[in-house]
Amino acid sequence: MTFSHLVSYFEKIEATSKRLEMFAILADLFREAHADEIDQVVYFLQGELLPAFHGINMGMSEKYLLRAITHAAGVDHDTLLQQHRTLGDIGKTVEHYSQTKEESSQTISEVYQAIYHIAMMSGEGSVDRKIDALAALFSSLSATEAKYAARFVAGQLRLGAGDATILEALALSHGDRAFRTSLDRAYNLTSDLGLLAKTFGQKGEAGILATSVRCGYPIRSALCERLPSSEEIIEKIGRCSVEIKYDGFRCQAHKQGDTVILFSRNQERTTPMFPEIVDALQTVFRQNDIILEGEALAVNEATGEAFPFQVTMQRKRKHGIDLLAKDVPLKFFVFDLLYLDGVDYTQYPYKARRDKLIALLHKHKEGEHRGSPLPPQNTVMDISEAIETDDPKTLSRFFNNVVERGYEGIVAKRLESLYTAGSRNFNWIKLKRSYKGEITDTLDLCIVGYFFGKGARARLGIGTILAAVYDPSAARFKTVSKIGTGFSEAELTDLKALLDEITLSEKPHELDAEMIPDVWVLPKYVVPVTADEITQSQSHTACCDAEGAGLSLRFPRVTGFVRSDKGPYDVTTTTEIAALFHQQKRIQVE
Ligand code: ATP
Repeated sequence: MTFSHLVSYFEKIEATSKRLEMFAILADLFREAHADEIDQVVYFLQGELLPAFHGINMGMSEKYLLRAITHAAGVDHDTLLQQHRTLGDIGKTVEHYSQTKEESSQTISEVYQAIYHIAMMSGEGSVDRKIDALAALFSSLSATEAKYAARFVAGQLRLGAGDATILEALALSHGDRAFRTSLDRAYNLTSDLGLLAKTFGQKGEAGILATSVRCGYPIRSALCERLPSSEEIIEKIGRCSVEIKYDGFRCQAHKQGDTVILFSRNQERTTPMFPEIVDALQTVFRQNDIILEGEALAVNEATGEAFPFQVTMQRKRKHGIDLLAKDVPLKFFVFDLLYLDGVDYTQYPYKARRDKLIALLHKHKEGEHRGSPLPPQNTVMDISEAIETDDPKTLSRFFNNVVERGYEGIVAKRLESLYTAGSRNFNWIKLKRSYKGEITDTLDLCIVGYFFGKGARARLGIGTILAAVYDPSAARFKTVSKIGTGFSEAELTDLKALLDEITLSEKPHELDAEMIPDVWVLPKYVVPVTADEITQSQSHTACCDAEGAGLSLRFPRVTGFVRSDKGPYDVTTTTEIAALFHQQKRIQVE
């Protein structure tokens, strides 16, 4: 398929806000695409060269693209910057300066490969080479094609086709919505929609059904539901395992041969952050291929207690990790076994996974190991601490005990549940300590715009942000709060710099909003937020009732800076905020 034909699909997708129409357009596109190129079609739709877990970054900021346009169009850079500020979109700027009106004959693969090649350039002089190659690419495309290519390269091609939409359209393209169940399963096990589309195209449903867990491909995280008390947890799932909820970084560790790759909750590579976990896996599981999941956190060696999250957070820095690993040692509390030597453990009940984990890790803790010499005793990996009970009082006692020891709370797990990749359900239920006057859990909200602010804040050019939850069934973001509290001045300055890279001239395509900020931004950055209460307000669009009142937050405040482990589609959903609203009402009534 030619790239220009793909672009005609992009235009159709952009022109519709109706979900069913979007499915139909995408299903047509998938039917028409050849099995050899459909993976690239999917990556274009997702706006990423490859899923983030492959660790390949486009590495081209808007600044470089603007230099490439100056180059390609031979215009004065300041004039171009002025024009760009007026147009407010890198795609429109490239289109404006393009001199080519006719469609190019380049195929999807040719354009994709050209961009891939540019992304791979490294070493001395690579920035200039990238700019030259981009300028050449833009010149070889029509104005409209170049518009979309530029947005793609800048990471701003957001067509509103989220993962669920692509999965639905893939099922429809093969003529039956019922394929959705097997597609979802395969996606949750491999996290690569392009790979899935290609397998489906080449091998049909049999290929999808045969898809299994594989080392190097992150399994989408199983997530927790919430309940407000021990009684309700036991009532819901009966006898269960109650584990400490560790407050660190979720870490899915894949070891195959000598290679270890670590993934975040959000399927991004975090290997360089935790060298000791890499070492521990290589030493302890020398002869195994394995996938483990757990929480990595800094612990105080003297007391054996966990440090607050801010201490673990330091691992996010780019340099000096080895030194940090010595000063602030880290432990990997493993809470799940997902794969071992060709066996997909996600298909086993919790109890069987846990027993196997205990057998594996305890054996190694005692220094026994197949073959000799004996490996050094493992001090980095440990199994999450847990009790098994069907008594709410015992659960409460365990909860109070772990909270006293500085942990966040507990996660109760249904004994017979399989590992439900990519799904939030009552197989796992979290109960966290709550603070007086706060809702019982922080929300993760997506920033969709900002206001300039008044007084001292006006000087910074940013005073408050407009934040949204996500409604996956409608594939729309919905606003829930305007937030100014909790940021330091330095954080606001940093945030403004981040947001100014992704400003939009109009409301984001995927957003429903009543409130209009001074500046719209692409839904990209996620911040953790707490509030005293969830209330109803006509100004917000989340969970709107018949009178047009949506949910909103009373005294909202951010509790941290931008979360790098969550993307826009991972934020709190409308269903979750509605559940918190109802739980809050119930607690007030009791
Ligand atoms: P979520 O991951 O559910 O979207 P979140 O990122 O805001 O929510 P929390 O609500 O604090 O995180 O709790 C869920 C997280 O708790 C898991 O993603 C996992 O990283 C962490 N966790 C800590 N200990 C455990 C455990 N024993 N079992 C499962 N998860 C645990």
